Amino acid sequence: MKLAVKRPPVGRTQWVSIAFLSLSPVIGFGSLAYFMTTGTLTSATLVLALVIATVAGMGTTAGYHRLFSHRSYEAALPVRIVMLLIGLLGLQGSALEWSLDHRTHHKFVDRDKDPYSITKGFWFAHMLWIFKTRARDWRPSHNADLFRDKFVFFQHRYFMPLAIAANFVLPAAIAGIFWGDIWGGFLIAGFLRLVFTHHSTFFINSLCHIAGSQPYSDKHTARDNAITAFFTWGEGYHNFHHEFANDYRNGVRWYQYDPGKWAIKLLSYLRLASNLKRVPDTTIKQRRMQMQKGELLSKLEKWGWTEERQQLFRAQLDETFAAFRRRATVMNEIRNRMKTDAVQATQRRFELMQERYARLQDAVEETAIQWKLLRRRARS
Ligand SMILES: [Zn+2]
Ligand SMILES: [Zn+2]
Repeated sequence: MKLAVKRPPVGRTQWVSIAFLSLSPVIGFGSLAYFMTTGTLTSATLVLALVIATVAGMGTTAGYHRLFSHRSYEAALPVRIVMLLIGLLGLQGSALEWSLDHRTHHKFVDRDKDPYSITKGFWFAHMLWIFKTRARDWRPSHNADLFRDKFVFFQHRYFMPLAIAANFVLPAAIAGIFWGDIWGGFLIAGFLRLVFTHHSTFFINSLCHIAGSQPYSDKHTARDNAITAFFTWGEGYHNFHHEFANDYRNGVRWYQYDPGKWAIKLLSYLRLASNLKRVPDTTIKQRRMQMQKGELLSKLEKWGWTEERQQLFRAQLDETFAAFRRRATVMNEIRNRMKTDAVQATQRRFELMQERYARLQDAVEETAIQWKLLRRRARS
């Protein structure tokens, strides 16, 4: 399939997006009020809306974000196709457009080229950025992994009809066919559910750059926040994510709410995902220690410590930090060596297999000759 992407001119007002994002809450909540006052809201339709919201959240976090934008793991073809399909339920553009924007966000975070820079205000980062087309890096050589993927390209090319089918036709059809609630499917599982899906994703660009702590870096505005994580399918651990964007986890601690991380791990158990990228624990800890050190030192004066006591404490901190870094470096070196050793071990196994294969090939050839001789003897 030849890649010929349509590139809308930069700065064009996106009237369809403006109309949809303005009207969908009115339609969604208006319908909810109508169904509730007339007593026609069915629990089956509500469950459908919830299921679609969950699937859509997965499509965005585990699919669009961690798979296509960051390549934080490798997925089997069926998973990639499913992610592209359920990614449609986010109604946030194709995986290609989404990933290009998101990669730019990481590269230029908080700067002018950041497509949803929080420095332009909460509402700009939340949704106003969508209202005008902006420059995108369409050069295939810069994002070869995306441009090479014919499934990504197919989803991009047929995004609109596919997205309309997934977001509106499908819920209306399911609710209509199975429990006779076509309008509930269309308005509640379609429109209202989309309002929820949209804003829970938009919060990642707005709230997650405003509310929360900065345990890993204060060089950008991204924050860690357990509450926003709950509403953003685990993406609320955004400070960690901006520091270690290729890690498949956002909530790095086992107890941190991160359904995206759990889904990817589950896929790996099912052998449908592999090469889950993880930053070494020592590197994460080191970054955290660096931040903690800065925080502590800035507090010493406030605590009224004497200059002498501060100096002594600073020296102790520096010494301990240096010792940690030294040991962590050696640990990382050993880990890498173990990995290469493992590869070499696999290579040895592979060579043995090759030898065995060659021996079998000879044996098969020999048997074929014997077979031929046998047939010849039988004919004579
Ligand atoms: Zn961000
Ligand atoms: Zn990201």
